[in-house]
Amino acid sequence: MTQNPPFPSPEELKAKLSEFMKTNFGDKVAFTTYTEPQTAEAPAEEKPSATGDEPFVFDFLPRDIKAHLDRFVIKQDEAKKVLSIAVCDHYNHVNYLRRLEKEDAARAEETEYAKQNVILVGPTGVGKTYLIKHIADLIKVPFVKADATKFSETGYVGGDVEDLVRELVDKADGDVQLAQFGIIYIDEIDKLAAAGNMMGRDVSGRGVQTTLLKLMEETDVPLRSANDLQAQLQAAFEFQRRGGKAKRETISTRHILFVVSGAFERLKQQVSRRLTQGQIGFNTEPRLVMDNELFQYVGTQDFIEYGFEPEFIGRLPVRVVCEELAAGDLYQIMKFSEGSILRQYERAFRAYGIEISFEDEALRLMAEAAAKEKTGARGLLTVWEKLFRDYKYYLAGSGLSQLRVSAELVREPKKVLDRLMVEGHKQEEAALEKSALAFTEDFQKAHGLEIVFDPPAIARLIERAHAERMTMPDLCAHLFKDYQFGLSLVHKNSGQKSFVLGREAIDAPDKFLSDLVVQSHYPRASGQTSSS
Ligand code: ADP
Repeated sequence: MTQNPPFPSPEELKAKLSEFMKTNFGDKVAFTTYTEPQTAEAPAEEKPSATGDEPFVFDFLPRDIKAHLDRFVIKQDEAKKVLSIAVCDHYNHVNYLRRLEKEDAARAEETEYAKQNVILVGPTGVGKTYLIKHIADLIKVPFVKADATKFSETGYVGGDVEDLVRELVDKADGDVQLAQFGIIYIDEIDKLAAAGNMMGRDVSGRGVQTTLLKLMEETDVPLRSANDLQAQLQAAFEFQRRGGKAKRETISTRHILFVVSGAFERLKQQVSRRLTQGQIGFNTEPRLVMDNELFQYVGTQDFIEYGFEPEFIGRLPVRVVCEELAAGDLYQIMKFSEGSILRQYERAFRAYGIEISFEDEALRLMAEAAAKEKTGARGLLTVWEKLFRDYKYYLAGSGLSQLRVSAELVREPKKVLDRLMVEGHKQEEAALEKSALAFTEDFQKAHGLEIVFDPPAIARLIERAHAERMTMPDLCAHLFKDYQFGLSLVHKNSGQKSFVLGREAIDAPDKFLSDLVVQSHYPRASGQTSSS
């Protein structure tokens, strides 16, 4: 009778399952490595948090938050203001509830509050994510961003909507308490709208809205996803190990702040059509830009008409526009935002030993080019990358140490680069020549004998330094290693103190030296016989 094979270890089981999933479902099903948010010895509830008893402390005024955002985000003043207030209200209320929980848990449980979840309307690249990220950084809560187009009713590749909440735990380094105060940001929310019915999304779009709605209200999300076999296995093993005692396994979404955003392309036509139909006496052409002025006429009904469920939109009471960025704004971003791409390029060039600086006019031209990309501040990345690609490639290591970005450079990058390369080449040669002369000076100081390189010798030294990839001091030390002895000998024989070295001395330094020694020893055999 054959014995049953021993039960595989958790690691083996993981490996086998992983293999099985891959061969049967390919890459469609993810089998991710789940890292325990807490160690078995210190489960979440017991884990001391960074701030002692309190997982996080909130003590900001709206104007503190706005001031912080002003350092990084250009324009979007209305959005900054509205977000600062929403965030303060949200976390002040959280503070209040936490105090109340300690005094009167039942009352805290019952307290009604409409969470200040936010809709940010605005095109791509105008700072929506950037705003939220900097708020989360400032108040030190974890922040997760996702794209609504990734979801479907039944989940998205690799997981489901609840994974966002679990991701917060990862972002909080496993601190479940802190994760419960995080911010979840979902972009492209307008793609879930049913009206217009793009990509046959009507059914699943509605389904996702319902799922998100549940999260935005209040729900407990299991720490381990039901789809994550590995996590489930781990939980089972853990359960066994603890002798069947379960530990706290859920994250509450009660205090999580939700921000959703989207371009809502059709919204501007929708609203301006209504306005121009004279209902509000707004007698102008339909407007094509959604700015704060037009947005004041956007109401809940407009979002419902757009294709959202009333309950869903009702859970998002704070609404604000991030306006499009014109060339002038992009210029300001480059020049004044602390996170400007300009700083990034300064660092990148400095790493190649090049100090880069910018003329104002050049920045204006770049801003104009970026505005044409129609991707907000992202256009800047495109323009800069394209403009400086060859500059980085060819100037790094060229000997050039200063790069002044002028309007001419932006207009005719190739021409200016060619010119700089010739210049860089010249500069590099000058530096090498100087280094060769420094060698002769040091030689004289050390040995009291003068070496003079004639111009062909200098040219040949530069050539060899390039070809042999050596620095000039190393090359000279290598070529002339015996010269202190040889030339001293010559000096002793003939009294000669100064030696002119030509090209041949660079090509064959040893031969050149031994010829000198021989000549000084047998003057008759060489120079003297011919001259007498
Ligand atoms: P989106 O509006 O699509 O979320 P992001 O916030 O991700 O755009 O912006 C992309 C990048 O562009 C940011 O990381 C930031 O560097 C820059 N950026 C965008 N808008 C602004 C702005 N208003 N001020 C300063 N930088 C900005």
